[in-house]
Amino acid sequence: MPELLVASRNAKKLKELRRVLDDAGIEGLSLLSLGDVPPFPESPESGATFADNALIKARDGVAATGIACLADDSGIEVDALNGMPGVLSARWSGTHGQDQANNELLLGQLGDVPEERRGGRFVSVCALVLPDGSETIVRGEWPGRIARAPRGAGGFGYDPIFLPDGFDCAAAELTPEQKNAVSHRGNALRQLIPALRALASS
Ligand code: IMP
Repeated sequence: MPELLVASRNAKKLKELRRVLDDAGIEGLSLLSLGDVPPFPESPESGATFADNALIKARDGVAATGIACLADDSGIEVDALNGMPGVLSARWSGTHGQDQANNELLLGQLGDVPEERRGGRFVSVCALVLPDGSETIVRGEWPGRIARAPRGAGGFGYDPIFLPDGFDCAAAELTPEQKNAVSHRGNALRQLIPALRALASS
């Protein structure tokens, strides 16, 4: 059975990909996470764009294992900050992965910004690199605006302060199913269906 290495240790990301594959009726693809392959040195996420970072991770995965590799890089872009935090989303407050500190800093920075200029979007760029060197890159977006205070206990990262367009609540108040159906990552992964279907039947 063809294998696909997902360059992540995040079980939620693997689960989301599995759901997209199931919905598309793609069987016969064995999904592996970084925990399923021998450890290899991973390059720092030093790219200037989401695409640079996703490609770095996917190419590292193929080079180290010889297995087709899917990697994603994601973050939030805020219009009033000229698109930042962007690729710096995970470490906006200085330390990697401090969700609460990141949210507090962003809310503080937007303190005086009026409603009509609080727009932004989550972005996910996914890169699929095959052992023959072919590369597919897709980008998914989820538009919305930045709240004035955190709401909800679900999700992760900036979900408590992101008010997605078309909903009357924060992303952290959606169920995982509601979020996956409309989110940046779901949108990006669904664009990869043709390439993944071809891989599954290779
Ligand atoms: P990474 O792509 O796993 O490196 O994540 C980048 C950062 O973007 C995360 O640490 C979060 O802060 C933020 N982020 C990406 N996707 C989401 C999301 O769906 N909800 C909330 N925050 C997100």
